[in-house]
Amino acid sequence: MKKVNTVAVVLKSINYKDSDKIYTLLSKDLGKISAIARGVRKISSRRAGNLDTLNLVKVGLSEGLGGMRQIDEVSGLNSFRKLKNDYALSTQCSYVVELLHKTTEEGGNAEAAFELLVKFLKIASRFPENVILAVRFFEIHYLALMGYGLNTESCLRCKSDLVKKGPELYLDSSRGGFICGDCSHHGLSFSTQTVGKLRELTENKLYKTDEKTLKDINTITSALIDEHFGIRIKSRELL
Ligand SMILES: [Zn+2]
Repeated sequence: MKKVNTVAVVLKSINYKDSDKIYTLLSKDLGKISAIARGVRKISSRRAGNLDTLNLVKVGLSEGLGGMRQIDEVSGLNSFRKLKNDYALSTQCSYVVELLHKTTEEGGNAEAAFELLVKFLKIASRFPENVILAVRFFEIHYLALMGYGLNTESCLRCKSDLVKKGPELYLDSSRGGFICGDCSHHGLSFSTQTVGKLRELTENKLYKTDEKTLKDINTITSALIDEHFGIRIKSRELL
C-alpha cells in the first residue's frame, strides 16, 4: 500500500458511517484531497482534535480500499486557536476556506495556494485587528494564482501610470485592471489612493488602512470574484 506524508490545512469534514469522518485537506504536495479518518468520532480518539477545520497538520496517508485515501497518522503543527475563539475572526476565515474550496479542483498542483492560505492564517492570528485587510490580501493573491492577476500599474487603454491619473479610475473587472478618466467614464470608479493600496497588497505590503479604502477594495475583489469564478460564496454574505 502506497504511503505518503504531507502537510495540509483542514478545510472541512463530514461525518461518515458510525465513527468515521471524511476530511477535505488542502495539502502542500497533493493539492486538494479527500481522506477518511477511521474511528475519529469515538470519544477515545486522540486524532479528532488535531483534525479540526483550519488546523495546519502533518499527515501520514495511505491508499485505502476503492482508492480512497486514509489518514493513518496526524500531528498538529498549528491550530490557530485565536482565530477560532472569536466569532468575527472565524467568520472571515470560513469565507477564505469556502472560497478556496469552491474554486480549487481536487488533485492538481496547489502548493502556492497552500502556502498562501498558511500565510493568511499566520497574518490573521498575529494581527487579528487587521483581519479584513488580510482577507483582501488573500483574495488579490489568490486571484493572481488562478490567472486573474489585477493590473494596478497602468491604464488598460492608454498605458499611463495610474497613480498619476485620477482622481477617479474605472474598474474593468473582466480585463482585470483600471481605466483612467481620460479614456473612459464607464463602470465603478475608485480613487487613485484605493488603487495605490491595492498595489501595496500585491507587493505584500499590509499597512493599516482606513475604513473607506477597505470597503472600496472589498467592492473590487467582490467584482473580480463574481466575474471570474461566477459562484456564490455563502459565507461572504455573512461578512
Ligand atoms: Zn487611459
